[in-house]
Amino acid sequence: MSDCLFCKIIKGDIPSKKVYENDNVYAFEDLNPQAPHHILFIPKHHISTINEATPENAKHFGALFAGVKEYAAEIGVDEPGYRVVMNCNADAGQTVYHVHLHFLAGRSLTWPPG
Ligand code: AMP
Ligand code: ZN
Repeated sequence: MSDCLFCKIIKGDIPSKKVYENDNVYAFEDLNPQAPHHILFIPKHHISTINEATPENAKHFGALFAGVKEYAAEIGVDEPGYRVVMNCNADAGQTVYHVHLHFLAGRSLTWPPG
């Protein structure tokens, strides 16, 4: 999608602080971090919202979790723990319409979220 912010980040047209990448996933620091580690994991394939999930594109969602698992172990937060969040549409606070898994770690997180 040519007008999508995160597609532009994947292409390198907009700068980002990359922390992890594989064939299907790109991950970079959130501009407005809510925890010591606040990373956005995005599929390289454009999908706007969770409402577009299908059996055919499920692998792109699965790849995000596989990437998160690897990265969490790499930075040593797999045992203390971390949170992943994916917002869908306005009521959840989605502002960028390319699905992304927020990865939050490095502090004790409260529940429920706001
Ligand atoms: P959401 O509200 O779930 O759609 O999350 C979008 C996230 O993208 C927010 O946490 C923003 O801080 C973050 N964000 C927006 N633009 C950029 C950017 N250029 N680089 C890194 N993070 C960004
Ligand atoms: Zn996109």
